[in-house]
Amino acid sequence: MTKHPDVAIVGGGIIGLTSAYFLAKEGLSVEVFDRGDLGKEASWAGAGILPPGNPARSATSADQLRGIGSAQFPSFSEELRELTGIDNGYRLCGGIEFLTPDDAEIPAVWRAEGIAFERLALPEAKRLEPTLGDMRGEPYLLPACAQVRNPWHLRALIAACERIGVKLRPHEPVAGWITANKRVVGVRLVSGEQVTASRLLLAGGAWSELLLEVLGHKPRVHPVRGQIVLVKGRGPSRILMFGKRYLVPRGDGLILIGSTEEPEAGFEKQTTPEGISELLAFAWEAVPVLVEASREASWAGLRPGSPDGLPFIGSVPNWENVFVAAGHFRAGVQLSIGTAQAITELFTSKPMGVDLNAFRLDRSPNINTKQAFRS
Ligand SMILES: Cc1cc2nc3c(=O)[nH]c(=O)nc-3n(C[C@H](O)[C@H](O)[C@H](O)COP(=O)(O)OP(=O)(O)OC[C@H]3O[C@@H](n4cnc5c(N)ncnc54)[C@H](O)[C@@H]3O)c2cc1C
Repeated sequence: MTKHPDVAIVGGGIIGLTSAYFLAKEGLSVEVFDRGDLGKEASWAGAGILPPGNPARSATSADQLRGIGSAQFPSFSEELRELTGIDNGYRLCGGIEFLTPDDAEIPAVWRAEGIAFERLALPEAKRLEPTLGDMRGEPYLLPACAQVRNPWHLRALIAACERIGVKLRPHEPVAGWITANKRVVGVRLVSGEQVTASRLLLAGGAWSELLLEVLGHKPRVHPVRGQIVLVKGRGPSRILMFGKRYLVPRGDGLILIGSTEEPEAGFEKQTTPEGISELLAFAWEAVPVLVEASREASWAGLRPGSPDGLPFIGSVPNWENVFVAAGHFRAGVQLSIGTAQAITELFTSKPMGVDLNAFRLDRSPNINTKQAFRS
């Protein structure tokens, strides 16, 4: 294994690992450092909802990244399974999204993108999903909504990276950068070891701000806790989405109830009795039969938030050789393939498929940015 990799990646979550895999496929030697176990932070904790999209007709770069995810998750899942034998749980299960009057412009965005959808009356929604309660809002059927099982996907990604020669280094926290003039030439590990690399990628999720600050940038990547309750019982067969709350049926009787959004919790990752009660109350209202479901588990993860909800992807201004892919907030799974592709195009000097301007580290965030999907 090389001592001076082409690329050193800080952070082995879905963004770091997917990027590592794509870069290694292009023939680059890649080393990934994580302060803990690989893929056990936000990427493990997430719900794995993959909303539909269409990269050919998206209005914004963020929509384009979502569209790339929607279009490529089926073949990427197949590729990972062929390489590793691990099923990541990708399923085109469909979804029903309940919109409110505040979301009036969203169907037009879907239509412009060419996303298939159908406005339902509540009785029609109940015919499709007989366990659905009397929920307020306008139900829209989204047949192309899909899901992946995060822990399975991460396991497949880790195995795929190993298979193609990525050097994975869990439990190796990165303490800082090695710099020479305005160039970042490597990482300094907490252990004292120094690793130089031709290019560096920061994919440290909610923890990325610390390593950006020392390079003079404060984009305000911050943790936003999300709690999830897992139950087992009778329930919907499609994903049901009500703004930031959702139910994700896994297909084997397990149903994931998500999620809270708690920036005030900082880096505290535990669940709370209030958070869990709130989620159960929501689930029992949405699907009353879930009152009978057994509670299997609950957990929390720290989403990497950003001021406008969009990720930071691209070079770090004023420094050579160092790049960032962080701040994917509620959408890191769906945006992971598009992000990894963009990083790979940058590092291999290929034409860029996505305009990364919207993701610049030094942008002025537009906090009124509205997403076509909130879950
Ligand atoms: C409850 C919940 C539900 C979600 N649901 C969805 C969903 O349905 N669909 C969707 O697309 N997204 C969803 N998300 C969001 C998605 O999970 C995140 O956007 C995504 O996981 C971010 O990936 P990441 O690799 O940037 O971060 P992480 O997975 O947090 O990985 C960052 C890694 O960097 C490591 N690290 C940090 N600093 C250092 C350092 N100094 N040295 C070494 N390693 C370091 C950390 O240990 C960590 O492993 C959800 C998130 C949560 C919490």
